[in-house]
Amino acid sequence: MTTEQGSSAPRPQGAQGRRQRPRFFSRRKVCSFCVDKIDYIDYRDTEKLRGFVSNHSKIQGKRRSGACSKHQRGIALAIKRARLLALLPFDPRHRMPRADSIL
Ligand SMILES: [Zn+2]
Repeated sequence: MTTEQGSSAPRPQGAQGRRQRPRFFSRRKVCSFCVDKIDYIDYRDTEKLRGFVSNHSKIQGKRRSGACSKHQRGIALAIKRARLLALLPFDPRHRMPRADSIL
């Protein structure tokens, strides 16, 4: 009984193939929206939404953002709405014009 076969138990990713004790524990992430008791994520709050977009303008996953499923869906929806209204970029090459750069 040295190895377990099949391993139906959920194994933390990252430590692939390694059966040793994990080098670091993944701390349980707490959804910041649940903590703040925010039900609706506003698409106009671009400063906040920008934190959930990678620098390739992709929406970050739940694992990355730390949001719960419910709020992750809200984040994704808000980002998509903000993109349609050109509040957030679809593409990293899209440069937001600054007020002083417009001639
Ligand atoms: Zn949440």
